[in-house]
Amino acid sequence: MAKITIDDVIKRFGDGDDSIVAVDDVSLDIKDGEFVVFVGPSGSGKSTLMRIVAGLETQSAGDVHIGDTLVNQLGPRARDIAMVFQNYALYPNMTVEENMSFGLKMSTDMSDDEIEQKVRSAAEMMDIDMLLDNTPGELSGGQQQRVALGRAIVRDPNVFLMDEPLSNLDAKLRTEMRTEINRLQSELGVTTLYVTHDQTEAMTMGDRLVVLNHGELQQVGTPLECFYRPVNQFVAGFLGSPSMNFFDGSVEGGTLRADGFDYDLTERMQRSVNGQTDVVLGARPEDISLHDDAASSHEFEAVIDVVEPMGSISYVYLTAVNQEREETFIVEADGQRPLAEGEHVYVEIPDEDVHLFDAQTGETIHQRRLDEQAEVALEERMQTVSGSTD
Ligand code: ADP
Ligand code: MG
Repeated sequence: MAKITIDDVIKRFGDGDDSIVAVDDVSLDIKDGEFVVFVGPSGSGKSTLMRIVAGLETQSAGDVHIGDTLVNQLGPRARDIAMVFQNYALYPNMTVEENMSFGLKMSTDMSDDEIEQKVRSAAEMMDIDMLLDNTPGELSGGQQQRVALGRAIVRDPNVFLMDEPLSNLDAKLRTEMRTEINRLQSELGVTTLYVTHDQTEAMTMGDRLVVLNHGELQQVGTPLECFYRPVNQFVAGFLGSPSMNFFDGSVEGGTLRADGFDYDLTERMQRSVNGQTDVVLGARPEDISLHDDAASSHEFEAVIDVVEPMGSISYVYLTAVNQEREETFIVEADGQRPLAEGEHVYVEIPDEDVHLFDAQTGETIHQRRLDEQAEVALEERMQTVSGSTD
């Protein structure tokens, strides 16, 4: 097992005007045994960064250490890593057992008995021991992915690298395998880098998220830190489904004037805004509520555009009555509540749930409130995190 250190890594593809910066000066410390998830939209540089750690891609600048070894010049085989990808890359003509033992036979001088023992124990761990004599063609997608994971376990590597390993599986299997990989990783305690573009997958897996956009590192933190304390509008919008609603506004005195409604800023918000004028108000769909009558100062009248029933909840798309642009915002409502398209309702955005962002830079200037216990726990953690990296 090993820690991984990434220092000022840049990856450029191509030369001159056509060049692309796929990884833009990323530095990162991954602890020994940690499960870290690279998450971001397609093209944000997740795979490139992982491939640099794997030795499949050479960085244009910067250093990668695995353990205390500088691995810049080492090929993938010398790095003691095991990789699992979206396409399982199993040998179709070999049995499961042969697929799992092939790497060990090629690269170690272990005895056949030892190899068989390791394969059997990994197969039991992945619950595929009854499939050892089958060929990949006889297995379902989920079983094949288990074999691919089993093959990685057999190698007993310092580091697991997984690039969207579940994206070929259907939704139910994916959820199952998520749990399985979480269990496996904590059982084996092997340092693991996991790539996904799926924010739900990221939220449910991993000790820490590394959020990337355009090759730039946005935020590193536990899933809940990134969700409740996003450092910028990108992270706030990327994590959570449906996404946080954003309302562009301009601040005049103690009021934020948005398209279709005015929002009275609390004193805490005014201190955060600190004289800035162009501010974006962010509120998650699950924090906004709908009422039949106006009851508080943080309400405005809106029209229901579309209702999407999900069962226990409905997603309600609305526009403010006096709104000029056509853009809708989303509110999560109780699934049992009868709501009709065209209906007028009052929308309440509770001030404790509001995030504010600098409209120019996208940086968070005001964080929502949390339950007292959660607040204390998160603040303590964030202090230790920033303390340890300084
Ligand atoms: P992700 O895994 O987050 O979807 P990638 O790391 O695959 O993103 O890609 C990051 C950027 O680098 C993209 O713009 C992609 O087109 C570009 N890129 C990746 N690999 C290559 C390559 N071999 N040659 C040229 N451009 C590449
Ligand atoms: Mg990728």
